[in-house]
Amino acid sequence: MTDHLSFPQPHLSTVALERTYLKAQVRIPVLRGVEMTVNRGEFLAIVGQSGSGKSTLLHLMGLLDQPNIGEVRLHVEATDDRPAESLRIDNLPPATRDALRNRVFGFIFQAYHLLPELTVLENVQSPLMIRESVLGYWKNRREYRDRACEIIDRVGLSHRLKHRPSELSGGEMQRAAIARSLISRPEILLADEPTGNLDSQTGRDIMSLLKSLNAEGLTVIMVTHDDNLAAQADRIIRLANGRSVDLASEVAA
Ligand code: ADP
Ligand code: MG
Repeated sequence: MTDHLSFPQPHLSTVALERTYLKAQVRIPVLRGVEMTVNRGEFLAIVGQSGSGKSTLLHLMGLLDQPNIGEVRLHVEATDDRPAESLRIDNLPPATRDALRNRVFGFIFQAYHLLPELTVLENVQSPLMIRESVLGYWKNRREYRDRACEIIDRVGLSHRLKHRPSELSGGEMQRAAIARSLISRPEILLADEPTGNLDSQTGRDIMSLLKSLNAEGLTVIMVTHDDNLAAQADRIIRLANGRSVDLASEVAA
């Protein structure tokens, strides 16, 4: 019954994805037909020069933006009463898209985007506060607090629960942001240059944390321009001229 698990199963795909920006009435094609798939449980690195469209692609995959042409597809596993299926997710109505985004994706960014007036514990719980009604949050507050504490412990930040972002190092801020991205138990983590503001040792520590989360089953897509970090991924995709090229990770290593 678990036989199929030994074969790669697609998790998220893009089909002929195109994204064009309008700047002073000039059309700038950024993505010109990107075809890519990340497999379930895979650690995929996306590399490419600055301005090649890495962030644009990540935003499209995570439903933060919509393509002009093409599709984003989520592959849903079979359950007892439903076969596996591939769902087009880029064109859903806004409320469905928001709900799906919150359930499926976690995001981390180069600049952390923590709320400065909240403690680590509050920052990590903030997606739940936003998602639930006041009453719903209040009813579940003990469970949510326990869940947040467990995840904060998982990222190695238990000693900083009551600290605010200004009292943390860069590596600690990114750990807090990772904990926040995990609070809704996402299937796929989208990381946009997560080590871009960190010194190389701290960057390696964050990479080890992401790799251990991936080893526990999280699918990870990480944009980076650090070739050494990219080489630690299962697979590397390079964006150039609006298209994607699949590179074996050994090639870059
Ligand atoms: P990368 O992350 O690889 O550095 P981006 O995806 O951020 O690249 O940007 C790709 C190109 O699209 C750049 O030329 C950038 O200026 C342009 N771009 C990105 N976002 C916007 C936007 N909201 N409006 C106009 N142009 C944009
Ligand atoms: Mg970028």
